[in-house]
Amino acid sequence: MGGDMITLAHGGGGIASRRLLREHLLPRLDSEALRPLGDSALVDVPPGGIALTTDSYVVRPWRFPGGDIGRLAVCGTVNDLAVMGARPLYLTLGLILEEGLPLADLDAVIASVAETAREAGVEVVAGDTKVVNRGDADGLYINTSGIGVFDDAHVRLPGPRAGDRLLVTGALGDHGLAVMAAREGLPLKSALVSDCAPLNGLVEAMRGAGEITWMRDCTRGGLASAANELAADHGLGVRFIEEDLVVHDAAAAVAELLGLDILHVANEGVILAAVAEGDAGRVLGAARAHAYGREASLAGGLTKSHPRRVVLETVIGGERIVDMLTGEQLPRIC
Ligand code: MG
Repeated sequence: MGGDMITLAHGGGGIASRRLLREHLLPRLDSEALRPLGDSALVDVPPGGIALTTDSYVVRPWRFPGGDIGRLAVCGTVNDLAVMGARPLYLTLGLILEEGLPLADLDAVIASVAETAREAGVEVVAGDTKVVNRGDADGLYINTSGIGVFDDAHVRLPGPRAGDRLLVTGALGDHGLAVMAAREGLPLKSALVSDCAPLNGLVEAMRGAGEITWMRDCTRGGLASAANELAADHGLGVRFIEEDLVVHDAAAAVAELLGLDILHVANEGVILAAVAEGDAGRVLGAARAHAYGREASLAGGLTKSHPRRVVLETVIGGERIVDMLTGEQLPRIC
């Protein structure tokens, strides 16, 4: 009993812990900084300062259409660094495992972490594993911290300005709705797949084409929260043109079924970017040429005329205020 699943001994720091590390984690997460297994990883960074971020991942179910908790953990951390203008380099991986978790599930998640890290060009350099009693967690949780660096090609963003155009890099709401649909077992005619993706490559391509002044990834609270944060933090008005926002039919159908405003639903592979007006066409072209920006659109702009408000010009020719999400609409989607 227990040979193919996580037991409390795996978290005890003894032989079972060591075996878990040697047989299930290290072979997939090979890194020169990780290999010595010191008490902390030693890494080199250029002199321009670092960006540092941390996030915990508790998504349920841990596997969903288009990804799993491992891919999500790497993407979420990489994207938080990339949108600040930094080049993501190093991640940590903290695992909280529930007693009874099949080792095959852990293997699948670690393989996904490794594959996504490879795709994003980042290294997992430090980690930790804890095991809690059966019932004290739901399978597994992950915490990742990330370090990004600034260099000549990755300078800090200057901040948004009135007149900037707003670029949205993809379709809205797919991640949150795909997770909810999987959890609720909703019968779907068409595939609804999470957009979960590491976006540092897309960001580099866009920055190479023109000046981006501000970015945020549209995660919890969706596009509405990112836009309201932009408006409030910088005293600017945000205007979106509903017609220019991309929403997949399957996402629109599930959002309606669940009674959700798609502007409030999380993505894990979509960025809202403010772009210098004269560069907007070139940046859009660069985004659309990238695999994760094919559905990018210029969907609005920044104005001085209604500071701290987000206004949507609707398809039928009206206007409505877009508020921040209040309360928790979709629990455990990331
Ligand atoms: Mg973020």
